[in-house]
Amino acid sequence: MRVTRSEMSAASSKHIAIVGAGVAGLTAAALLAHRGFRVSLFEKQSLPGGRAAAMTWDGFTFDLGPTLLFMPDVYRDAFARWGGDFDREVPMLRLRPNYRLNYADGKQLVISSFLSETMRSLEAFAPGSSRGFLRYFADAADAYQRSRRLFVGERIRSFAHFLSPERIAALFSTGAFRRLGAQASRSFGDPRVAGALSFQSMYLGMSPFDAPLLYRLLLFTELGEGIFFPFGGIGALPRALDRAARRNGAQLRYESEIAAIERHGKRVVALRTAGGERIECDALLLNADLPYAYDRLLGEPEHRSLRMRHTPSALLVYVALEERYEDLLHHEFVMPDDLRATCNDIFRRGRIPEDPAIYLCAPSASDPSMAPPGKEALYLLVPAPSLEGVVDWAGEREAIVARALRIVEERRLPGLRSRIRWVRSRTPLEFQNELFLDRGSAFGLSHDLLQIGPMRPDNRHATLENCYFAGASTRPATGLPLVMLGALQSVDRLCEELG
Ligand SMILES: Cc1cc2nc3c(=O)[nH]c(=O)nc-3n(C[C@H](O)[C@H](O)[C@H](O)COP(=O)(O)OP(=O)(O)OC[C@H]3O[C@@H](n4cnc5c(N)ncnc54)[C@H](O)[C@@H]3O)c2cc1C
Repeated sequence: MRVTRSEMSAASSKHIAIVGAGVAGLTAAALLAHRGFRVSLFEKQSLPGGRAAAMTWDGFTFDLGPTLLFMPDVYRDAFARWGGDFDREVPMLRLRPNYRLNYADGKQLVISSFLSETMRSLEAFAPGSSRGFLRYFADAADAYQRSRRLFVGERIRSFAHFLSPERIAALFSTGAFRRLGAQASRSFGDPRVAGALSFQSMYLGMSPFDAPLLYRLLLFTELGEGIFFPFGGIGALPRALDRAARRNGAQLRYESEIAAIERHGKRVVALRTAGGERIECDALLLNADLPYAYDRLLGEPEHRSLRMRHTPSALLVYVALEERYEDLLHHEFVMPDDLRATCNDIFRRGRIPEDPAIYLCAPSASDPSMAPPGKEALYLLVPAPSLEGVVDWAGEREAIVARALRIVEERRLPGLRSRIRWVRSRTPLEFQNELFLDRGSAFGLSHDLLQIGPMRPDNRHATLENCYFAGASTRPATGLPLVMLGALQSVDRLCEELG
């Protein structure tokens, strides 16, 4: 969108308030300020990023949430909108291979965006399994290209707009009405191979056995385009957005919690901080978790988002290791033998699985500055139910963490517990209490078919005409690149509608 000089000066008299310095809130702040608005962003935490924030303790740097960067063109395009150069501001490395999967019998599978490496590994793991791979991958590529253009690339304006003949045809051809897990099983005889090439739906907080086949597109994002690592960690992204927003003139206020929103008729007129300060604004963009924002900030506990299905959550374990494992790749997974049983425990029974899938991130493999020399900032993610499940996080936290460390030691990292300097953890309780995520759900509202596209909560309030949303639980979806795309779409809409 081009902005003329007279539009700039009209914009500069308008004050836009943003609540939340997640990746979506920061992106919106940088772009709105670039377009000439007076922008004030309020964030309750002391640092940028929300779920994507990073912390350094004792010389060990941890990305607290996301660790995989996909779809780099989205970041490049966003930064270019305000004249920034993403590659210069956030230098990155493309990983090769992407990751290694480890099974209880000692077998390993290596997944690489250099496809011949993946095919060799598949063949060694389960002879014959590489045969169906290229076809499966090509279908994933097709699902990605169509979805990117038709479902997330432009703002969905209404049901009628969404249900164009081209979109309806794409829903059928990409497999929106079939199940990912079932198709993976048909394509690959070996259930572990089927699991390895379909579990990526868990990045969206969905079991592959329930997820629409459409979500095989996630396999393409990591195999077709690659997985990237910004030097210094994913935290480099929100830090760069924070700098861009300030450079463009936005005022960013950390440790400033917003406690209430004041409205008059069909408009938001002001915010109140927890300290009692009143801030008037011409428009508001809420990056705080959408169901929480409706419930606690807008005072609408009946809003439908509070009755919608939420994704599960995760237990995160941050481990300072005295000695790194030289053979550990940047990303590895300790995989269960029966992925279906594991998913049923999390997604249906609301409990920590007997045989969990555990993701390991060892960033020193790519960037030694992430930990003191020779040491490792090891990150474990155990998919787990949200606070809707039956886990007593307050009472069982230590036992659950200890069990996860024991499993990793037995299956992948011998002697792990003897190398530990200290351990910290984050559970759905912290997601709820520190980041204000409804039910402690890590990824926001679920992405089943009835909760995407026009069925996902809109990025503008239905009646408050100057109140917008950006982030994981609004359109288009969760994940760093998608919340960024969503923020750009919300800003464009705000600019159009604010005149
Ligand atoms: C464990 C985990 C792993 C993930 N892994 C990946 C990955 O590898 N790759 C990927 O692409 N995505 C990943 N994701 C998803 C990704 O992190 C999220 O989709 C994205 O960061 C969400 O950003 P957001 O802008 O919606 O807001 P959030 O990050 O939720 O930020 C919202 C901000 O609002 C603030 N806030 C809330 N209420 C108030 C208030 N009243 N006043 C002031 N401030 C307030 C919060 O403190 C928070 O900082 C992961 C998520 C988690 C939790």
